This record gives sequence, structure tokens and C-alpha cells, in this order.
Amino acid sequence: MIFARGQGESSPRLRQPDAIVVGSGPNGLAAALTMARAGLRVQVFEGAQEAGGGCRTAELTLPGFAHDVCSAVHPLALASPFFAGLDLAAHGVRLLTPKVALTHPLDGGRAAAVSGTVAQTAARLGADAQAYRRLMEPLVRDRDSVLSLALGPLRSVPDRPVAAARFGLQGVLPARLLARRLQTDEGRALFAGVASHSLRPLSAPMTGAFGLTFLLLAHATGWPVVEGGSARLIDAMTSELTGLGGEIVTGTWIERLDQLPPARAVLLDITPRQLLAMAGERLPAGFRRAMQRFRYGPGVCKVDWALDGPVPWQNEACREAGTVHVGGTLAEVARCEADVSAGRHPDRPFCLVAQPGVVDPSRAPAGRHTLWGYCHVPGGSGVDMSERVEAQIERFAPGFRDRILARSVRTATDIERYNPSYVGGDIAAGAATLRQTIGRPTLRWNPYRTPLPGVYLCSGSTPPGGGVHGMCGLWAASTALRDLHIEAPPTDHCEPSVHRAGAR
Ligand SMILES: Cc1cc2nc3c(=O)[nH]c(=O)nc-3n(C[C@H](O)[C@H](O)[C@H](O)COP(=O)(O)OP(=O)(O)OC[C@H]3O[C@@H](n4cnc5c(N)ncnc54)[C@H](O)[C@@H]3O)c2cc1C
Repeated sequence: MIFARGQGESSPRLRQPDAIVVGSGPNGLAAALTMARAGLRVQVFEGAQEAGGGCRTAELTLPGFAHDVCSAVHPLALASPFFAGLDLAAHGVRLLTPKVALTHPLDGGRAAAVSGTVAQTAARLGADAQAYRRLMEPLVRDRDSVLSLALGPLRSVPDRPVAAARFGLQGVLPARLLARRLQTDEGRALFAGVASHSLRPLSAPMTGAFGLTFLLLAHATGWPVVEGGSARLIDAMTSELTGLGGEIVTGTWIERLDQLPPARAVLLDITPRQLLAMAGERLPAGFRRAMQRFRYGPGVCKVDWALDGPVPWQNEACREAGTVHVGGTLAEVARCEADVSAGRHPDRPFCLVAQPGVVDPSRAPAGRHTLWGYCHVPGGSGVDMSERVEAQIERFAPGFRDRILARSVRTATDIERYNPSYVGGDIAAGAATLRQTIGRPTLRWNPYRTPLPGVYLCSGSTPPGGGVHGMCGLWAASTALRDLHIEAPPTDHCEPSVHRAGAR
């Protein structure tokens, strides 16, 4: 049962819980479900009035317009072993995959478009056809190994070391360098756009891995949205959890660990900064220093629009795409990301735009559409970037502004206010630096354990990092179960689900 309880009222409704989870984001709920499936009594405490963290849907603009407040596009959920173990269809959840996964428009009505197989996408890239096939075909062939690595806890020996090494050696490269394997404006811009999901300058190591992984996902699973909104994923998770006897207490912010009722395991869906506030002096000095060194990435400024029709993109493929990367050439995108990393707000920002209406008419009244978008900004920014974002969309879709019925804007500081796990507006719960890829949140054999017995981190600040995949929660809970000498549910060693989705 989900019920709200005011802060300070701490008497648990459950008989003494075996496991407590703080935070009900996708990772917190994945951890809770994993513990509950192992037969433990689980209680989740959520500060907000509603469960879901970065996976909620709300009428942010006008009645009848359902906007994804945070996450909207879910290739990671479709590839995730955790979600493969949750029968979404039985909960009435449908992931809808747009025919065109993503496009990247350029001036003059040109665009790169990723849809269908690698060969089909390559064929549309003209002079880059061979180079794109050389880059992507081996990855698609080895998709299970590559995605196991990308969604794994980073300490297991890959089942196919050669495939993993091939991916690792390319992925460690800066996106700028990898993009040089392509020669057309379209090919290079496409790679820059997908690599920018790293929220890092494109000259930084590891940004190549983001570009490769998100392109691989486009071919392996597509880039789906959830029919009716991302919150449906959370509804499925909460319904499964409560069906197993778990309980979610909303409206209760946990300030200190000693506020919690006793339990055999405590899993925290929070980031290192919050862990310091919650456990501070109880943590050994060395671990405390490591948590203080944890670096957050830049923030985002998010805009949601209610539109009186679809976006009038100049390029035809953009009208069918679920996601559109708006920002121009590789050089322009690279400049934006470098500006943001140097603490500057770009005049012409790189924007990630999603148009769920291409596959999901239920998001808005008949004939109308919702549009979702954000751009990167320096961490902690209070700047409203909506005019600059709209100017960028208008550049590739003249007449866009005339379609706007209403908009809702959240600056990076608003985003942190909405969810304290987005420190400074960092939507990935920590920068994807090389150091924080190898050791996230710090270098430890098992990154989910804290030095406090029975206390674990299960948020996006642990491997595999940000995104709605639930894998941080699954790996953390599997560790907790092992420590309790309880057999983990079978998903502990399962494979990515892309084979079910029919990789292309
Ligand atoms: C604007 C935006 C767009 C995004 N787009 C995408 C996308 O398209 N696709 C994608 O895969 N990912 C996307 N993400 C990222 C994704 O939402 C996150 O990576 C994901 O939600 C992380 O899950 P989590 O469970 O680790 O943490 P969160 O979802 O952040 O959940 C943490 C929860 O813990 C609660 N909490 C924190 N502290 C306390 C406390 N002290 N006491 C009680 N409760 C507490 C919070 O209220 C929150 O509900 C986006 C995020 C944002 C903000």
C-alpha cells in the first residue's frame, strides 16, 4: 500500500521491516523489488508526495497534456535485465518505439536519421555509409556482451572478453576523435549528439562510449517512450512491490540514518553528498573524504511545451523521430559542451528534444502534442534557457513558436529543488569522468557497500550510472542479499533483454 505520512511520524505500519530503502526512484524501487522477491519485508521511504524520482508524468502545462517531468526516452529500460524480469505487459505498460529512433537536423533541411538496421541507416549517410557500418556492425553483432558491460557492475569478468575489449578500446576515446572516422557533416553531428548524453566535453575520454552505446541501443532496441508517460513504469514497479507485501511511505524525508527503524539492510537511493549529510560522522574518515571528492556534472534546464500541432521540422525524417538532437554541426555541439563545462551558458545550446506524440497520441488532446526538451547548463544554474532553446528549434522548424500553447520551464536549481538527488541539476547523479567510471562513487571492489555494516548505496551514483534501467538497485540489492546469505533472485546473472526486442 502506498500512503503518505508526515515527516517526524516514524512508527512503521509494517511489522519490523527486514529491508529499508530510502528513495523511490527507479533504482530504489528495483532494489526494493529485488529484496521483496527474495522474501524480505521491505519498506520504502520517499520524501516527495509521489513515488518515482526521475520517472514521473504530470500535467505541467495545460489540462489533458501529460508531460514526462524527467525521463522520457527509455532504451536503457528496454535493454535492462532488471526490467526484463518485470512483466510490464501484465501491468498494462507498453513501450512504443518510434520508426525513427533519432534525428540530428542541420541547416538547409538536411539531417542524419537513425532508423532500422545499421545497413539501412548507413545507406542514408551517403559518403559515410562504409565508415558507419565499420563502426557499428561489430557492436551490434556483439550487442549482448557490450550491453552487459555497459549495464554491469564493472567488476565482473566479461563473458566475451574480445568483444568487451573492442568496445572498451573504442569507447575510452573522446567522441571528437571517434567522430573523425566519419567525414560528412551529418555523420559527425550525429555522433556528437549521441555522445553529448555523457554531459561531458566531447574532448573528454569515455565520451566515445556514450556515443557508441546510444547508437547501439537505437539499433538493438529502438528509443521507445512509454504509452501514457514514464510514470507507468513506476506504477508497474509499485504495484509489483505492494503485491509482494512491500510498503511505500511517501512524504517522508529521511535526514539522518538513525531516524530509520532497525532493519537487516538499508539501501539508499541517494548520492554521496546526501550520504554525507545522512551518515556523516558515522562514516570512516577515508570514505568520507572519498565522498567529498565525488564530482557532480553540469545541470540541465528543462522545457515542456503544449503545442497545437506537431513540430513543423523542415526535414521529413525529423517529423517521425521520437528524439531530435538540436544543435547543428559537430563543431557547434562540441563548443556548447565545452562552454558548459567551463561554466558558460551557450548562446546556441545543444538541445535534446523528445516528441512522444509521434507514437503516443494519448499524451495530448486530439491533434495536439506535448514536446519535451532540455539543454545542458553549468551546475547550479538558475538561468531560464527557454528562449535560446526555442530559437534553436525554430532554426530547424520554422513556425515552431507559433504552435506553442503553453510552456513550463525548470532551471537546474528548480530541478534540484524537485529532487535533491539531482545535485546542481545534474540528472546523472555524478559526472561521467574516467575516474568515476572506473570507481563510482569511489574505487572499491564492491561500490554498493558502504563501510557501515548493512548500509548500501543503490542510486545512479553507483555503476552503471544514470538512466532508467534499475540496474544500480538490482546490483546493490544482490550485494545486500549475498551479505545476508540469502540467495539472490535469478536476475542476478541474467543477460540484457535486447535479444527479446529483436536487435537489428
Ligand atoms: C530532465 C531529466 C531528463 C531525463 N531524461 C532521461 C531519459 O530520457 N531517459 C533515461 O533513461 N533517463 C533520463 N533521466 C535520468 C533518470 O531520470 C535518472 O537517471 C534516474 O531517475 C535515476 O534513478 P534513481 O532511482 O537512481 O534516482 P532518482 O530517480 O533521482 O530517485 C531518487 C528518489 O529519492 C528521493 N529522495 C532523495 N533523498 C531522499 C531522502 N533524504 N529521503 C527520502 N527520499 C529521498 C527523491 O525524492 C527521489 O524520488 C533524466 C533525468 C532528468 C532530470
